[in-house]
Amino acid sequence: MGWEELVGQERVRDTLRRALQGRRLAQAYLFYGPPGSGMEPAALLFARALQCLRGEADPCDACSACQKVRALLHPDVHVLFPAPTDASEEEIAAQRALLAEEPYAELDWSRRALSEERARNKQALYSMAMIEALRRAIYLRPYEGPYQVVLLLEADALRQEAANALLKTLEEPPERAVFVLSTSRPERLLPTLLSRTQKVRFEPLTEALIEEALRARGLGQQEASLLARMAAGNLSRALSLLRVSWSAEREAALRWLRALATGRRLEMLRYVEEAQRISREQLKDRLQTLLFWLHDLWRYRIWPEPKGLYYPDQIEVLARFHRNLPGVDLEAMIAALEEALEAIERNGNALLVCMALSLRLERALRREAVSSWR
Ligand SMILES: [Zn+2]
Repeated sequence: MGWEELVGQERVRDTLRRALQGRRLAQAYLFYGPPGSGMEPAALLFARALQCLRGEADPCDACSACQKVRALLHPDVHVLFPAPTDASEEEIAAQRALLAEEPYAELDWSRRALSEERARNKQALYSMAMIEALRRAIYLRPYEGPYQVVLLLEADALRQEAANALLKTLEEPPERAVFVLSTSRPERLLPTLLSRTQKVRFEPLTEALIEEALRARGLGQQEASLLARMAAGNLSRALSLLRVSWSAEREAALRWLRALATGRRLEMLRYVEEAQRISREQLKDRLQTLLFWLHDLWRYRIWPEPKGLYYPDQIEVLARFHRNLPGVDLEAMIAALEEALEAIERNGNALLVCMALSLRLERALRREAVSSWR
C-alpha cells in the first residue's frame, strides 16, 4: 500500500510523486483544502516516501523506515498538532495512536466531557514549548533517515509567538529538512509564513469517493451511503460519525418528540435538562438525527414509497407517526431544528436552546402559528 491509500486527489498525488521522483523538494509545503479531504494522510504518505529505504516515489511500506513512519515512531519524522492547554499526556498520546491507526481520523477535542473549566480551555493551539522542543530536535543531525521531516497539522492554530518561532526556523533551516504545514484555513496563517511555502491544494471529496473509502473500511452499503451523504465531502467527519451510536441518539430524540406530541411536559423537561449534561457534540448529533428523521417524514408524506431515506429501517415508525398526527407543521419543525443546531454551533446555551426548541416543536405539532425565537 502506497499512494493508493490517499482517497481521490489525483492532482496532489501526481505533484508529490513528481517531486519525490527527482527528489526536487521544496523546503516547505502548505497543504490546504477543506477539512477531511486528506491533507493529513497525504502528509504522512509523503513523509513515508521521503524516509523509505528504497528511495522511490512510492513508499514500499515493507521496510523498517516505512513501518516506523506509519506508526509515528520514526525519530526523524516530527508530527505536531495543536492541543488544548489542559490536555493531558494520555489524551495527546491517544490522539497520536488514533492518527497512527487511521490517518483520516479527526483531531477532535470537542467530545471531551464539558465541564466549565474545560469549556474555557477547549481551543486547541500550538504552544511555544512545542515549537521550542521541535527546534531542539531538528538542529541535531538526522540520525536515521535521509531527511528531517516536520509535519505541522492544523497549522492555523499557530498563534503569533509560535508562528514567529517557526518562521525563524524556516529562515535558517537545518540541513535536509522538509516541512509540511496543513490547514483548512490558510487565510489565518502569517503572510510571511505563507510566502515561504509551496502551495498544494486539496479538493473536497465526492460522496462516491467517501462511500468507497467507508466500504473499504468494512462498512455495509447502506451505512456507508448514509454516512457519505451526512459527511458533505469530509471523510474524517464520516469516520467520527461512525463512532456515534446513531440508533441510541435517534431513540432519545424520538422519545422527546413523543413526549411533546402527547403533552407529557415532565418527560419533555427531563430531556431538555439532559441537554446540558451531555457534550455539545453529542447534543448536535442528537438534534441532527431528529432533523434527518423529520426530512424522512416529509418525504414519506409526499411519496408513500420513498427512496433515499436517511433511515430506511424506520418506515413503520414514520407510517404510524403520519397516521396519528397528519396535520403537523413539518416545515416549521425542520426550520426550528435547523436554527437550534446553528445556535448550538454558535455556542448558545444548550439548556435555553433546547427549551426554546421544545416550545417551538410543541406548537408546530399542534399546528399553531409560530414566530421565530432567534
Ligand atoms: Zn519503505
